[in-house]
Amino acid sequence: MANLFEKELNIPKPKCCSTGDCCKGVSPSTPYWALLERAAKGDEFARNFFSIMIPYASHEEARTIVPGVVEKTLKAAEKLDDFPNNADDVVFYRCRYLQGDNRCGVHEDRPQFCRDYPDTPFVVMAPNCAYIPWGKACKKRYFQMKQDITQLARLRQEVQDLKSGHISASYIDADLFSSDNKSVDINGLSLVLSLTNVYIGSPGYSFLLHSL
Ligand code: SF4
Ligand code: SF4
Repeated sequence: MANLFEKELNIPKPKCCSTGDCCKGVSPSTPYWALLERAAKGDEFARNFFSIMIPYASHEEARTIVPGVVEKTLKAAEKLDDFPNNADDVVFYRCRYLQGDNRCGVHEDRPQFCRDYPDTPFVVMAPNCAYIPWGKACKKRYFQMKQDITQLARLRQEVQDLKSGHISASYIDADLFSSDNKSVDINGLSLVLSLTNVYIGSPGYSFLLHSL
C-alpha cells in the first residue's frame, strides 16, 4: 500500500532488491528499555517487534554482520533529535525469520511494520538499499514544498500589507508575465518571482515589491 509520502509527493517506491540488510540491522529510535516497558504494557508494535527481533549483544557484534548500517545509524544518532542521545541506547537487532537466501521466512504473515518499510524517507536505510534514491527524491521535494509554503505565506502577508497601505511599491514598466518568471495568483493579483526580485501586478502593469 502506498504510504503518505508516495501519495502526497507522487513518488512511487522502487522494488526492494532483497539484500536483507533491513532485517539484519534493525535499530528503532526507541531505546531497548523503553520498548520493553511498552511491550509489558501491551503495546502492539513493541510486542510484535520482540516476537521477531533478537538484539545483538553489542555494536561490535552487529558490525560483523551489517557494518554499513551500524555506521550510518550511529552517525545519524549523533544528529537526529528523535534518536537516543546516548550511543549505548542504540541497540541493533536481527530478525529470527530471515532465511539464508535473504528472503523472509514468514512473508505472508510478516508484521505491518515490515510491509510498510520504509514508511518515511527519514529512516536510516542500509547503504545499498534500493529505496535510497526514493528517500532522497522525497526529502528534496518535501523540503522544497516547505520552502514554497514559507515563501507563499510571506508573500500573502505582503499582499495584505500592500492593500492596507502599510507598504508601498514602485511601478515597473516591463511585461514580466511574458518572461520565464514564476507567478502565483492571489486574490486577483499576481505575484511574479524573478531571480532577484518579487513583483506584484497583472499583465500590463507591475510593481516592484522587494528584492530577494
Ligand atoms: S519478518 Fe520478514 S520482512 Fe520482517 S524483518 Fe523478519 S525477515 Fe524481514
Ligand atoms: S535493505 Fe532495502 S533493498 Fe535491502 S531488503 Fe531491505 S528494503 Fe530491500
